[in-house]
Amino acid sequence: MSSSQPEWTLDAVLSLHDLPLTELLLRAQTVHREHHAHDAVQLCTLLSVKTGGCPEDCGYCPQSSKHDTSVEPERLLSVEEVLASARRAREAGSTRFCMGAAWREVKDGPAFDRVVSMVEGVRELGLEACATLGMLDEGQARKLAAAGLTAYNHNLDTSREHYGEVISTRTYDDRLRTIGHVAKAGISLCCGGILGMGESIRDRAEMLRTLANLDPQPGSVPINALVPVEGTPLENQPRVDSIELVRAIATARILMPRAMVRLSAGRTELSREAQWLCFMAGANSIFYGEKLLTTGNPDVRDDQRLLADAGLVPMAPYASPDPQVQATKARGPQAKAGAIPLSRRAPADAE
Ligand code: SF4
Repeated sequence: MSSSQPEWTLDAVLSLHDLPLTELLLRAQTVHREHHAHDAVQLCTLLSVKTGGCPEDCGYCPQSSKHDTSVEPERLLSVEEVLASARRAREAGSTRFCMGAAWREVKDGPAFDRVVSMVEGVRELGLEACATLGMLDEGQARKLAAAGLTAYNHNLDTSREHYGEVISTRTYDDRLRTIGHVAKAGISLCCGGILGMGESIRDRAEMLRTLANLDPQPGSVPINALVPVEGTPLENQPRVDSIELVRAIATARILMPRAMVRLSAGRTELSREAQWLCFMAGANSIFYGEKLLTTGNPDVRDDQRLLADAGLVPMAPYASPDPQVQATKARGPQAKAGAIPLSRRAPADAE
């Protein structure tokens, strides 16, 4: 953790999380406005570039080969297929394109080389490029950084104490090791968690504490509400209460002021009002498009209406105040002329 940041204790995080809701929202919105444009939301698209057949046993995931779900394994997409999807996402207004592969870990070879080409192509389109490929080593992280990868997603999912209840095929320390390789390569870290996996409030606070004490802090924090999928061990989990989701987002905003806090999976179950409360709490990004890897996501037109009715505008790429996002912007393939409409809200507009 950087010396200018306080080291958060669990008690301090719990005290914030459990504040009266109006007080928590006020504090979160105040922090938000110090670091971000108050009315801008980044639109991101997440594409599964290699679906299913994963040897890990994450209890929430329909792509695990250990669970009997309706997801069928698919081959790794071609670079052309991915870039065609990225162009469509850009036309629809996304400024960040995330690529997910259902791998336990990255293996050097043609498949990884293809993903590297995808990253280069996405950057050339003027989009931020993010990837989530499982565990990786230092050399692989450096290769992705050289290709211009803006961010690497590797979620902690939950607290260290609860982790074993959800996943048995890897450890929390495996997770932290890859996070260390990403940080060392100078790639911005995208790291968050999932609510609703049977964890306690204390587990949620502990996960947020761990995230906030990372050095550097994640530049991007996806907060997901579990979408229970038939055939997974968590298929019968009750839905997360929307106010609990708002509390987690507000706490994340206060603990990690410069991060983009992303309201991620589970939005199909949230009312418009609940989503607006999440924005009020400091969420400033949503995933946009009909699918989030293999699960459903709100209709694009509904999202456009949701933002317009709230007076929110789409954010330009690289508006994040995270220094590592700014550094990766200068590295790797640059956008080709006319790649992205830059009429959206830029960082200089932050208030
Ligand atoms: S979450 Fe990722 S690592 Fe876990 S089973 Fe699904 S695809 Fe594999």
